Amino acid sequence: REANAWSRRFERAETRDGHPVEVAANLGNTLHAADAVERGAEGVGLLRTEFLFMAHSSAPNLATQTNEYRQALEALAGRPLVARTLDVGGDKPLPYWPVPQEDNPFLGLRGIRLALTEPGVLETQLRALLLAGAPREDGLACPLRIMLPMVKDVAEFRAVKAIFDRLMVEIPADERATDVQLGVMIEIPSSALLAPSLAAEVDFFSIGTNDLTQYTLAIDRGHPVLSAQADGLHPAVLRLIQMTVEAAHAQGKWIGVCGELASDAVAIPVLVGLGVDELSVSARQVPLVKARLREFDLADARESARRALAQSTGDAVRDALEAN
Ligand code: PEP
Ligand code: MG
Repeated sequence: REANAWSRRFERAETRDGHPVEVAANLGNTLHAADAVERGAEGVGLLRTEFLFMAHSSAPNLATQTNEYRQALEALAGRPLVARTLDVGGDKPLPYWPVPQEDNPFLGLRGIRLALTEPGVLETQLRALLLAGAPREDGLACPLRIMLPMVKDVAEFRAVKAIFDRLMVEIPADERATDVQLGVMIEIPSSALLAPSLAAEVDFFSIGTNDLTQYTLAIDRGHPVLSAQADGLHPAVLRLIQMTVEAAHAQGKWIGVCGELASDAVAIPVLVGLGVDELSVSARQVPLVKARLREFDLADARESARRALAQSTGDAVRDALEAN
């Protein structure tokens, strides 16, 4: 089965009846982009740029960041790169960017909230991404998707969009990305509940099921005892995903899933049945996720989603899906 998945890794990802679902890779290091392509990834669905910041003893400068992002885009050769802006704080401290001692770091200064306290750092990152996304010498476009982490409502998006719009005017058009989108992660319940207002303004959504599950169920995703209960297939999480997909599609926006749930064989039909357009998973999983998609029809997926949403606990969802 694995050999078959590997031999078909470059084929377009779609369900048995031909419904396309993009399969992209999650990366922590731009050097791994070539490997992701070799494993069949149709793009990078989540570049965790914080690892670049963690590899330096102070914030990497404009040139360093531009080179780094350019490397990934070159390796992707025209495939899209979804780059997430710096997502530190909470469980991911950055030594040279100290955050005041907090009783609840998961509920504190992290993600886009933290970035907006130092807009200069965020602006340098946005500028580096835009410069890196300039078309190649041979004219090939480099589709660039910039994604903001831990957004709780549209105000945070607008604050970043204002910087982004200014840079798009400031940087000469032939020196920056042309095929560029600005979107947000949906990983806080408030942003799922308010997805219609966000969908009207963003270019795309990507659901971070790791944090969305943590914040919906109030279970620390790394908790030594409880994390087993932090199941992204919990019907409460699925309802938030359903609301978000509906809001995105009502505005003609695409929506991906980049948390762990996207590579869960039981969850994949549910996510497809809910209407998710893209799954972003670790590069190693790309061939297997593509193979899983080929095993069912869209109608089966919709039935799995319907059955899952009708349950009242995470275990009941898994039982109902596995019994099938
Ligand atoms: C998530 O929260 O699901 C996610 C993809 O982001 P991270 O795991 O980096 O927090
Ligand atoms: Mg997250």
